[in-house]
Amino acid sequence: MSQRTFSIIKPDAVKKGYAAAILADIEKAGFKIVSIKKISLSKAQAEGFYHVHAARPFFGELTEFMASGPIFPMVLEKDNAIADLRTLMGATDPAKADEGTLRKKYASSIGENAVHGSDAEETAAFEIGYFFAGLELA
Ligand code: ADP
Ligand code: MG
Repeated sequence: MSQRTFSIIKPDAVKKGYAAAILADIEKAGFKIVSIKKISLSKAQAEGFYHVHAARPFFGELTEFMASGPIFPMVLEKDNAIADLRTLMGATDPAKADEGTLRKKYASSIGENAVHGSDAEETAAFEIGYFFAGLELA
């Protein structure tokens, strides 16, 4: 059944000029791009997005990084989109990511790992709403 998920091309990948290559891989994997934009987050906006990780030791580093440059947040659609995007992304740590995954191809470290993808239906709904208004999701 068709499902929507939320993804971000993170600041490291945008800085390295990988945005178009990542989008091409996402489309080749069968995802339709429902909506996309380019924005820069403040530290407070990054903290709001990653609030579930507020107690983790890397929270400061993570939110600093996510506010360090422009990102491409996007909403993607396909059958089984949430799980399939996680598979396409690969493991959080690119050193452990499978060959051919986005993180294997484009990420440099566990912190600066090129892409974000929602991990469940509830988080996808929160994350889509954090970045996109209803009118942008037709
Ligand atoms: P994922 O993005 O694969 O769902 P998590 O939800 O566990 O991973 O973590 C969110 C983000 O926090 C990661 O994508 C990564 O940018 C960062 N992160 C996770 N673990 C670490 C770590 N040990 N050190 C630094 N940053 C980390
Ligand atoms: Mg996660």
